[in-house]
Amino acid sequence: MEYSQDMYPFQPTWSTTRINLLQRCPRAFVLRYGLAKLSKNHPQGQLLSEVFQIQTPWILMHQTIRTVLLDYVEDHQIGTVWSHELLSIRFRRDYFKAIAERNQRVERLQKYGLTASFFHTIQPEEHLIKMGIESCIGILLNSVFQGLLSNGSIERMEANEFTRIRNIRMYCAPDLLHRSSKGLTIIKFQLYGKISRSKRIQQASLLQSYGNDNSEVIQFCLQRRKWNVHKTIPIARQRKQASDLVVLDLKQIETVFSKVEKNNDLTKIPLADSYRSCTNCNVKFMCPVRTGYENAKAEQRVLMCQ
Ligand code: SF4
Repeated sequence: MEYSQDMYPFQPTWSTTRINLLQRCPRAFVLRYGLAKLSKNHPQGQLLSEVFQIQTPWILMHQTIRTVLLDYVEDHQIGTVWSHELLSIRFRRDYFKAIAERNQRVERLQKYGLTASFFHTIQPEEHLIKMGIESCIGILLNSVFQGLLSNGSIERMEANEFTRIRNIRMYCAPDLLHRSSKGLTIIKFQLYGKISRSKRIQQASLLQSYGNDNSEVIQFCLQRRKWNVHKTIPIARQRKQASDLVVLDLKQIETVFSKVEKNNDLTKIPLADSYRSCTNCNVKFMCPVRTGYENAKAEQRVLMCQ
């Protein structure tokens, strides 16, 4: 497999967020994983890195659910069990902090001369705080989650822990590893709504590589504030299918990078498939789509046919 090493960092690296972005919009993908990384010491590269870190209040609420639950489990392991009141206080504190950090990023962007209209500072929204607290309490009342807490030991995993499959560096870390007399169980919080059965099994098959071929994967899927629990022990065929898909994803990544030529010309990189992807896009201000999605598509078709 060949990569555009002279233009972009060597990329036999896979993560769910990376491939999701590529599928949503190849242009945003190249800006984030190509230009932003390549030119991180250049003001434009720094700008790109900053803007991609600005998240919506909705995403921040879900990220806070994850960190609060991981802190809860960690304290539980050393015998400190939080009351629901303490959990609510922690959630509120962490969400306020996440919003404050977001606002500081937005303020820093002003030094790049971006007009304030692209990014706004925001205030924490009470209904999101309530929703986040309810979701955290919901999983604490779940019998499967309670069973994991009361037996064996649990280790917290960091998102940047990677695994290797077929010599590919993969970032798809679980949230927790549980050890008991039954063996090693891999736990993942799936926070962003419904995923199809096939995607879920693909995710479980990749997660299993953080354990062994007998490890059970438990996915706690949050949908409309309710937790659905899925337990899977992926088999060899499923692991192979999942890693084949990763190899295909990497080919897509290679193809899109190879279209960017020496002058970092982005005209050959397709725009998002649908204007909906552009609605919350952080790099809209430097994309032809800012003047209208249909116009930008038409202009790009002409450029790509040259
Ligand atoms: S504004 Fe739309 S087309 Fe442009 S980079 Fe963002 S998602 Fe892609």
